[in-house]
Amino acid sequence: MNRSDVVVVGGGAVGLSTAWYLVEAGARVTVVDRTSADDKASTGNAGMLVPSHVIPLSAPGVISKGLRWMLSSSSPFHISPRLSADFLRWLYLFARHATPQHVAYGIPILRDLSMESLRLFDALCGDAAPLPGTGYSRTGLLMLHRGDTARRDNLHEADLAEGAGLDLRRLSEPEARALEPDIRTDITGGVFYATDAAIHPERFLSAMEAALRARGVQFVDATALRLDRQVGVVLDGAAEDGRRSVGGDFVVVAAGAWTPSLVKTLGTGLSLPVEPARGYSLTVNTHEATIRIPCVMLDERITVTPMAGVLRFSGTLTLSGFDRRVEERRLETIRRLAQLYAGPSLAIEKPAVWTGFRPASADGLPIIGPVPGAARFLVASGHGMLGVTQAPATGRMVADLISGRSPILDPKPFAPGRFS
Ligand SMILES: Cc1cc2nc3c(=O)[nH]c(=O)nc-3n(C[C@H](O)[C@H](O)[C@H](O)COP(=O)(O)OP(=O)(O)OC[C@H]3O[C@@H](n4cnc5c(N)ncnc54)[C@H](O)[C@@H]3O)c2cc1C
Repeated sequence: MNRSDVVVVGGGAVGLSTAWYLVEAGARVTVVDRTSADDKASTGNAGMLVPSHVIPLSAPGVISKGLRWMLSSSSPFHISPRLSADFLRWLYLFARHATPQHVAYGIPILRDLSMESLRLFDALCGDAAPLPGTGYSRTGLLMLHRGDTARRDNLHEADLAEGAGLDLRRLSEPEARALEPDIRTDITGGVFYATDAAIHPERFLSAMEAALRARGVQFVDATALRLDRQVGVVLDGAAEDGRRSVGGDFVVVAAGAWTPSLVKTLGTGLSLPVEPARGYSLTVNTHEATIRIPCVMLDERITVTPMAGVLRFSGTLTLSGFDRRVEERRLETIRRLAQLYAGPSLAIEKPAVWTGFRPASADGLPIIGPVPGAARFLVASGHGMLGVTQAPATGRMVADLISGRSPILDPKPFAPGRFS
């Protein structure tokens, strides 16, 4: 690449990974992120790197489950009805993609992006790699079930994953307990995905940011107010150095769940169907449990990840816009599970509760590529539940597209214009 100037809006896993591969390709990079808001989905999440998760969120049965659970205050998946044109369009597109055909189409696309990412994680965070102390480890993943419905779902997903070539083992209850003796819930069996890995998401972000600063990347702590074809990125007020805008040859919008509203300001008519899908996590200190392998408890849809001496429990998916209120009843199942692992004396303080907004696209596939009609503006968003897993490969693909290198994967399925 000749030395392009690139502005990346968003300092989450996707934005920073994009900055990384742009620097590697020879670009001068500025990251604009409203770090003061501290509302990234990329911190506080479960930190699971999961090529095993090959089924797009928009799968058959998801909407009906959401509607059935709409009235339950403690369900793991919840839709709050809203009269918003963008939300209704998202629901319509989601329902249109919730077909077996779309699942079959999406599986190899998600698999390849995640597998490519894992290869890049090895190079970024493995032994003697440039990002130290991220807690990256090829732990594998245990998907555990208790009831009949969860068992059926688990084995069905395993069939699909196996069909896609993933390395997995179906386990009886004793086999699952032999692999992870510190499982403290009733289970009847599970599936072990050997390829999956885990990372400490906050440590990954800080190691990445430190390494980017050392490589000359500038960080501007400001809110991007709007995108402008001439100027680039217009800031809301002035940055610390007095600048009111940041320009470049290219602008990458990696603003997570906030990406659609920013892209709209370009005035190309592109409306990206990405909704904030809210989730919670609880991080607890516990000396009683020594769990080593990240687990998903499928009956409750709650994850348990060991991270540097703490256990992080996470779950729930609520479609209710950018509502930040903590819903105590929705937290209850996560809290109960945390209590079980950490011992009855555990008192979970409010600050240990984290909430974040997954950027969920309507077809369950990420949105990566140039904005139609404004090709120097690119989008990298819509990763839903897989944004940490797929961040490196997404960043690499954006850098490939900008530098004119042949992209690591076919960018067509990710094209931002595919919904129109
Ligand atoms: C409970 C929970 C558990 C999860 N577990 C996992 C997991 O185990 N594995 C996995 O792969 N994924 C997981 N995810 C999903 C993952 O967290 C997200 O997909 C991913 O973090 C999205 O990254 P991002 O960089 O696109 O967005 P974000 O991390 O949200 O970053 C976007 C950034 O852009 C900034 N921004 C937005 N608008 C502006 C603006 N106008 N100006 C300046 N800055 C702006 C925001 O402040 C933010 O810093 C989980 C999510 C949740 C909620």
